[in-house]
Amino acid sequence: MGATSSGISCTFCRIIKGNLPSWKVFEDDRTVAFLDINPLSKGHTLVVPKTHVSRVQEEEDSKYLFSAVRLLVGKVQAAMRAPACNVGINNGAESGQEVPYLHVHIIPRFNGDGGGSVLSVISKRPKISKGEMEKINRAIRETVGSKG
Ligand code: 5GP
Repeated sequence: MGATSSGISCTFCRIIKGNLPSWKVFEDDRTVAFLDINPLSKGHTLVVPKTHVSRVQEEEDSKYLFSAVRLLVGKVQAAMRAPACNVGINNGAESGQEVPYLHVHIIPRFNGDGGGSVLSVISKRPKISKGEMEKINRAIRETVGSKG
């Protein structure tokens, strides 16, 4: 399957098509992975579907993307001799996503690297009452269509 482009102005489409240089570390029919140009750590890798979508909920065949992520997490850590990594997606502009093309960050982590957890994306947790938690639970369950 070839790369599906959303246009020549899209940076990641250009990388996938080979029109913009990148350090590719993996490619199969549906997925490409390349080194982040401005890495947070050595081996910081971006895993992307070949078909342009912006956000994870738009990716219909996400099993291909996540199976590549699963493979690459172990391999990137092994190559970098990293004991751990953060795996994350900025999913929409309000979450900090700068490139509107779905990508999974694999960020190798090292002892004493001074970094934080993915839970540090928001520094102050909201106080939520039990009643509100029940409302939230109901709203999400209804939207999902959960039974029982
Ligand atoms: P976001 O905030 O959208 O989750 O992260 C976008 C990531 O893409 C950033 O870490 C940034 O360094 C990386 N990036 C942006 N432009 C390029 C590029 O042209 N090539 C590569 N390899 N990475 C890029």
